[in-house]
Amino acid sequence: MTGAPKELSKQEVLSTYFGYDSFRPGQEELIDAVLSGRDVVGIMPTGAGKSLCYQVPALMLEGITLVVSPLIALMKDQVGALKQAGVSACFINSSLNQRQLYEVLRDAKEGHYKIVYVAPERLNNPEFLELCEAISISLVVVDEAHCVSQWGHDFRPSYREIAHFVASLTKRPMVSAFTATATAEVKADVIQLLALMDAHVLVSGFNRENLYFSVKHSKDKTAALLDFLHDQRDSCGIVYCATRADTEEVCQELQEQGYHATRYHAGLKDAERHTNQDDFVYERKRIMVATNAFGMGIDKSNLSFVVHYNMPKNIESYYQEAGRAGRDGQPAVCLLLYAPKDVETGKFLISLGYAGKAYDSQTRQMLQENDLELLKQMTWYATTSDCLRGYILKYFGEKTSVSCGSCSNCDTQFESVDITVEAQKVISCIMRLARQHRAFGKVLIAKSLKGSKEQMIASRGLDRLSTYGIMSDTSLKRIMDIISYLVEKDWISQANTEYPTLGLTTQSVEALKGNVQIVMQLPKEIEKEEKQRLGTRKAQPAGSHERPELYQRLVDLRRQLAEDTQVPAYIVFSNATLHDMCHKLPRSLEDFLLVNGVGQAKLEAYGTVFTEAIGSYCDAHET
Ligand code: ADP
Ligand code: MG
Repeated sequence: MTGAPKELSKQEVLSTYFGYDSFRPGQEELIDAVLSGRDVVGIMPTGAGKSLCYQVPALMLEGITLVVSPLIALMKDQVGALKQAGVSACFINSSLNQRQLYEVLRDAKEGHYKIVYVAPERLNNPEFLELCEAISISLVVVDEAHCVSQWGHDFRPSYREIAHFVASLTKRPMVSAFTATATAEVKADVIQLLALMDAHVLVSGFNRENLYFSVKHSKDKTAALLDFLHDQRDSCGIVYCATRADTEEVCQELQEQGYHATRYHAGLKDAERHTNQDDFVYERKRIMVATNAFGMGIDKSNLSFVVHYNMPKNIESYYQEAGRAGRDGQPAVCLLLYAPKDVETGKFLISLGYAGKAYDSQTRQMLQENDLELLKQMTWYATTSDCLRGYILKYFGEKTSVSCGSCSNCDTQFESVDITVEAQKVISCIMRLARQHRAFGKVLIAKSLKGSKEQMIASRGLDRLSTYGIMSDTSLKRIMDIISYLVEKDWISQANTEYPTLGLTTQSVEALKGNVQIVMQLPKEIEKEEKQRLGTRKAQPAGSHERPELYQRLVDLRRQLAEDTQVPAYIVFSNATLHDMCHKLPRSLEDFLLVNGVGQAKLEAYGTVFTEAIGSYCDAHET
């Protein structure tokens, strides 16, 4: 079972090993580039299918493919999945004991493996280098390649060794790099720091059609979360929290409410983290409450939801974390619970960043300013009334249509409200302060406009401005919303500093002159019943499936087989594959092979049991 006979085409490798009948967007282009001998960079969103872009060529190339991967869990998962697909693969990392390591190195030398996963720290280890001398390496793959960049969000110094390692090999192999982070800095770093040569760069579409994006503004987040989970029935998902304390609290609350939830954060002992992760991966627990320490190594493809209990620090992190939902292509929900306090927490966390590391104060300040800007973009996502999907795609530099029809903003009925006069009031206030060489943040300005009697307003003389109280008829929340909108659309500015004071922009004057009309989208007050209808629609992972009873039976069968073979259930078959079985109802092995996600190895391992189960269901229910 070592690799494919060379005659297999990429199409045949795809169907024989992985059981898929077509490539996803971008995959073929990258595979072709690798097969033609080029270095490549593949920038595709989480769940797009980057692994196949190197696994297919790996099976077609002469020698061995080495995959540098940042996490033990990730390697374990990938190797497990490859073995299930009938591909000989192994990993070399610190989870092996001395004897296991010896055996793996020996077997690798003897040519037992087609794909070898390795931790970056191994690349200058003498035993490993000796192996590399003895074998022929055709391709070096750098997975999660953004780890090489300081501008990415998971910088790993040992990734900087990769270029040196590649250069030290007797014959330079091709190098392929993959990541989901698309910013210009990261892309440039990947190409430069990995010393790629004339690389073929592909940035694929970032849209994930099966994901439903939703933002909910809520003071009582626990209630909002419970409300959401109530409709999720038996599906699996992650709830991300910003801090360890929140993680603990939310997990406990869910457990008390009878949910099978577990937790993960850096403050737990290794043993507990491993147990909890396994509980989730093997579906003994269906909800994982975690900080962002959880997830990069997790390829669990059947997550139906990812909830962010707090707003993350930037859109990249958000899209990467949220993108862990629905990797199998099934409908899934990405919900962000937002409260203005999240912005403060975000700023606080940024203020702690880059301390104690090798950054001088100037670099530190620059990185922090960069982070504040990213936080601002994230905040706009949480507060915009525009299409959420459109916002994200625009962020990643893609053109989009005005409305996707499948996010909470597209589903909410907004009405256009003319806020020109309100905008003028806000701008006059800021301008009066500017003349006195003073500036304040959003809250103080909103309260002054509202005519607040609070001490903090009087003590700063904000009650003596001529604009004091000129918006007393408007609710404070509405004033704040209007200010946020004006900042977002550049009618006024907000400083990127510890005290984000409001200021004027070149556009401000235009607004004051009354030459323009400023229109803002505000949610329409809709009847309660209507709201509930929309609410349920949102909470449900859309799309009804065929034959739920059979599906449940196949899920049980899968769980049992997974336990027998000691692999996670989704590695046996994805949910999408089970759904396709319910649709196609294969009763012969021949038909079983036509199911999406069934290749030769899985046909042999599971074909009989599954077709029998399907057969007996059909006999009982249909003709
Ligand atoms: P990424 O690394 O880009 O986040 P993965 O490589 O882990 O994504 O793939 C995500 C899921 O998509 C996996 O379950 C994989 O089997 C599936 N997949 C990849 N390519 C295809 C394809 N051509 N057809 C169907 N499913 C695919
Ligand atoms: Mg991946």
